[in-house]
Amino acid sequence: MEEVIYFKNFINGEYVEPIDHKYMSNYDPSVGKIYSNVPDSNEKDINEAVKAAKEAFPIWSSKSAQERSDMLYKIANEIERRLKEFAELESRDQGKTITTATTIEIPRSIYNFRFFAGAILHHQNESTVGPLPNVLNYTLRSPVGVCGLISPWNLPLYLLTWKIAPAIATGNTCVCKPSEMTPATAHLLGEVFNTVGLPRGVVNIVFGNGPNAGSPLVRHSDVPLISFTGGTKTGEIIQQQASPLNKKLSLELGGKNPGIIFDDCKFEECVETSVRSSFSNQGEICLCTSRLYVQEGIFDKFVEQFVEKTKKIVVGDPKSEKSGMGALISEDHLKKIEYYVQLAKDEGGTILCGGKRPELSAIFGGNENENLKNGYFYEPTVIIGLNPLTSRVLKEEIFGPVITITSFSTEQQVIQYANDVEYGLASSLWSQNVDRCHRVASKIDCGICWVNCWLIRDLRTPFGGVKRSGIGREGGDHSIDFFTEQKNICIKIGN
Ligand code: NAD
Repeated sequence: MEEVIYFKNFINGEYVEPIDHKYMSNYDPSVGKIYSNVPDSNEKDINEAVKAAKEAFPIWSSKSAQERSDMLYKIANEIERRLKEFAELESRDQGKTITTATTIEIPRSIYNFRFFAGAILHHQNESTVGPLPNVLNYTLRSPVGVCGLISPWNLPLYLLTWKIAPAIATGNTCVCKPSEMTPATAHLLGEVFNTVGLPRGVVNIVFGNGPNAGSPLVRHSDVPLISFTGGTKTGEIIQQQASPLNKKLSLELGGKNPGIIFDDCKFEECVETSVRSSFSNQGEICLCTSRLYVQEGIFDKFVEQFVEKTKKIVVGDPKSEKSGMGALISEDHLKKIEYYVQLAKDEGGTILCGGKRPELSAIFGGNENENLKNGYFYEPTVIIGLNPLTSRVLKEEIFGPVITITSFSTEQQVIQYANDVEYGLASSLWSQNVDRCHRVASKIDCGICWVNCWLIRDLRTPFGGVKRSGIGREGGDHSIDFFTEQKNICIKIGN
């Protein structure tokens, strides 16, 4: 029988057991079995981690930007050297395909460190002479202190490193609280930090659930900044706890992203990309499209080809390179998907494909592993026929391999449909008419609108959401602003 792994917290450069020796079970989603035990840490562990981060702060913050940049490059190189190991762990822990982990998630995590290693050297503070005579103004930036970084399970290493890299590049130290459901790659990061010689205490990683470990981190008086990515409800709790303490707060929350397709789109490319944007990473990316609106002139043709391509996605063993979609994160999440598909039926929708767990022979994906029959697999699902203004399925976040397709006639109508939700994270827009693209993009409630593409990310650009999708922007200078305090120094020169 395979041995169950025990993960440990990483505090002050050492792997340590949780103080109260409590652990939680963690499941391999492709086989539905416990494969590791994760520390069920609490306030005591968080206090130890914050203490270590606070002690490390004076030395780390006094390093030059060049020294910190060099360290970030070393971290990136070391993750790259161990890319295969990271990818295999991520795939097993989260259920994503090995291809997604190897070609998208881990490379993008490496790039997070490289990007901020460069950004911190190129960032220039503004300084001005005039309009007042004999006065020189400049902006001094200082790191904020100990940062609390809380991340979700869907892109575990990518979203955690998206926070760690700018936090330490700007001279902060941090305490990370990764999702309790996906501890594996965060755990391995500790080894990377020690291998490259990151000073002890600069990054500390504490595992545990939200109320026991996340909340004490949010409320800790020595943690002046919280960067959170996760669900909208959790974000609201964090906001309530952090706001009275005047903490710097960034919230990257849920979404219900529309894809708007006009009849003058580049059809083949649009169908291909829309399938990818709906089902990548099992639809478990906050930026995945979850509602497609297709102009009536091409609706039937689009639906036909979209369904044809969707049916070709192989749902199977995440370890197999043949699989296009792996397993969902947990049994609870699988039940949530099943609930929404049933709701779609109750609301009068028609399921054109999927809508169920796959046949056993399909999920083997060439690997004769009987265990997969207990994995949390679900077929990519396409739904039409829902009422665009009243359907709950069209308004609530599902966060899985379920896409709805709805027809529209005019620009004005589709803008109304797209904005008729409480979220505003991402959107995509397909048309060859540039005037129209600009007009519609400017009217959609969202933080990012992809025109004739999806998921292209220039890390210098602002990232974040509007409405209940979040507060604040990260990326490039926006991250540097968030992870630093700015001070105006005003010097009178001469008489
Ligand atoms: P979640 O909110 O349940 O958990 C996220 C993290 O917060 C976990 O580490 C969890 O332990 C912690 N947490 C939970 N309760 C807490 C509390 N009271 N105090 C402090 N920490 C707490 O989210 P999830 O299920 O892990 O992730 C899925 C959600 O994340 C989806 O809604 C998805 O849209 C969203 N998401 C958003 C983005 C974005 O960039 N906007 C990116 C990825 C995922």
